[in-house]
Amino acid sequence: MSATEIALRPELAALAPYNSGLSLEDVASRCGGRPIAKLGSNENPHPLPDPVCAAMAEVLGRTQMYPDPSARALAAQLAAVTGVEAARIVFGDGSEDLLNVLARALLQTGDEVVTLYPSFPLHEDYARMMGAEVTRIGLTEGREIDMAALLEAVARPVRLILLANPMNPAGVWLTPDQLDQVLAAQHPDSVLCLDEAYVEYAAGPDYLPGTERIGGHAKPLLILRTFSKAWGLAALRIGYGLSNSDALISAMHLVRTPFNVNAVAQAAALAALCAPEGMQAAVADTLAERARVADVLRGRGLEVLPSKGNFLFVNVARPSGPVGEALIDHGVIVKPWKQPGYESFLRVSTGLAVENDQFLGALEAVL
Ligand SMILES: *Cc1c(COP(=O)(O)O)cnc(C)c1O
Repeated sequence: MSATEIALRPELAALAPYNSGLSLEDVASRCGGRPIAKLGSNENPHPLPDPVCAAMAEVLGRTQMYPDPSARALAAQLAAVTGVEAARIVFGDGSEDLLNVLARALLQTGDEVVTLYPSFPLHEDYARMMGAEVTRIGLTEGREIDMAALLEAVARPVRLILLANPMNPAGVWLTPDQLDQVLAAQHPDSVLCLDEAYVEYAAGPDYLPGTERIGGHAKPLLILRTFSKAWGLAALRIGYGLSNSDALISAMHLVRTPFNVNAVAQAAALAALCAPEGMQAAVADTLAERARVADVLRGRGLEVLPSKGNFLFVNVARPSGPVGEALIDHGVIVKPWKQPGYESFLRVSTGLAVENDQFLGALEAVL
């Protein structure tokens, strides 16, 4: 039996549990021992570089002490890499944690949050948890970010503008010119948060990382990044925020838990930053594989959105839920999209070549 009813914050009634995707264990029982291609959560399946493994092993031998609450060594290295001073860097237990911290620092009932759609669900959930209203800026018929609607929305004094660049799940991105337009149009009373979870995959002449503009921007800006994707540390949970606003950084420090990033994660992230060649090689392989998979899918007549992430958003032209279910029987995990307007899309992460081949073969069989 469960204890008597308790009174909860009314905002919780509007929230649904996060769809974290199927785990290897969930799927193993359904496909009889065959290898599983886990392509549902945009993880980097390449092996970790040796220095990262060594750094983790070293810390595992001395976990009696609390971790450094301000991750000083890591902040210093990130400052050197990003050009943002260490005092304007904040760490989180994954960048999801920082999305939550940001929402708790800024939002109250009735505030407006502008975000892109189809959306990264947590961009909306944490806003709603605080009682804020979410305004979604969708894609045009041509599946591009609706710049007219976005520029109109960000010019209003909304509390928070939360843009994933590149977008997840769609993969499309703001071009350098478009990002500059958003920065110029931002209302000075709004906080602009650029969620750059995939920045390492996006680099190139047609993509502008927020760090290129943060120095000269006078309005509040926060850039969120993570070690979970290209850096391959998803299980350790570590992400970071870079800001030009001392007030915002201070507020996030007040709201976060003091020891929100564990010592193993701090050591692994520092070792990874000091030897980025492993990450760069994995990214190069993923980008080549992403192009190969997209070509095969388009060759089959499927609509595939352009992507700057380690994933593709694919229109299978029928409800994607049953397609995702059928793929599981072939040992392939993808993420069928459920948001209105996108129920015929699935998001598939770009894995190792052998995993991508397993996906392509299974999809051929299922369609
Ligand atoms: C994966 C992802 C994150 C969360 O990453 P963590 O650091 O693992 O919490 C944040 N934003 C977007 C857009 C993502 O795709």
